Amino acid sequence: MLNYHIWTIGCQMNKAESERLGSLFEETGYHYVPNVTDADLIVINTCVVRQNAEDRAVHKLQNFKPLKKARPDIIIAVTGCWVESNNDQLKKTFPFVDYFFKAGECPPWVDRAKWLQALPKEPQPATYVPIIHGCNNFCAYCVVPYRRGREKSRPLSEIVCEVKELVSRGTREVTLLGQNVDSYGHDLPEKPALSDLLTELNDIEGLYRIRFLTNHPKDMSRRLIQTVAHLDKVCKNITLPAQAGSNEVLKVMRRGYTIEEYRRLVNEIRREIPDVGLVSDIIVGFPSETETQFQQTVNLLTEVKFDTVHLAAYSPRPGTIAAREMVDDVSAEDKKRRLTILENLQVNIVTEINAKL
Ligand code: SF4
Repeated sequence: MLNYHIWTIGCQMNKAESERLGSLFEETGYHYVPNVTDADLIVINTCVVRQNAEDRAVHKLQNFKPLKKARPDIIIAVTGCWVESNNDQLKKTFPFVDYFFKAGECPPWVDRAKWLQALPKEPQPATYVPIIHGCNNFCAYCVVPYRRGREKSRPLSEIVCEVKELVSRGTREVTLLGQNVDSYGHDLPEKPALSDLLTELNDIEGLYRIRFLTNHPKDMSRRLIQTVAHLDKVCKNITLPAQAGSNEVLKVMRRGYTIEEYRRLVNEIRREIPDVGLVSDIIVGFPSETETQFQQTVNLLTEVKFDTVHLAAYSPRPGTIAAREMVDDVSAEDKKRRLTILENLQVNIVTEINAKL
């Protein structure tokens, strides 16, 4: 019996892709082991959205070097957003790695037909289902479009078949994934929208709950809001990253909406879905962010009262527009201070929300 181990860091898309790799390896006769030293095949699934995630992947990979020396027959592979089309530099830095393959792609040593059919035999009751890969947006700080490529939707019928199969194997809840789920379908011949997909999935017997993320404030449609309001299996929870509360900052971030448009969208969502749970992402310390602009983010959080906010301090990611064209001029101390202010604010907001329940 051959053993495999997968180490994953990063977003839900990475987790979904690791789950799929695990199913594929099980299909081809491998057995999962939690301890890396027992594995014959090791895959690390990387993230480069933040420096910290990249550092952890580097550290992890360096730990495998002595293992490969002691057992040269082990296969070590790296996937995820770290991997680019040209990996000459990575190959030079980590010569003990056997394969580098891009996020969401078939491992090069595996038959592609098997990859396309890989589904877990015993899926989790709550399972991730990618519906669209890549992103066309090129927000100034984000490395995702460079690593995951342009948007590519999966055909609606393929997703529906996959979810039916997962439900027949025990899944009861699915989370549909995409960097921008609002873009789903625009590149397919029949141009289905996310609303069409949700409507079809809502009819699947045995499936209890449907979730989706992430939405983009410039692309979310009125029809989607109404669909979420009316379909009984779709959870009333929307992930709508604001990223900043200042129009100047949103503009240099290239987010494609103003804060007034964002607020209008939130109001419309709350009007149609009064009990909605709202989640947002915020970046503090983006290049040139002033105290006044930061205060506008404080105001946004204070007014909107999100149920959850994912907070991050800006760090330049090589290759992005911000890293190429802007100066990372907010000091580390100011970033940390701004982060702490928002963290404390959000704790108070969530305490207030929870106290009402
Ligand atoms: S929408 Fe912007 S932040 Fe989100 S993945 Fe695309 S480029 Fe990155």
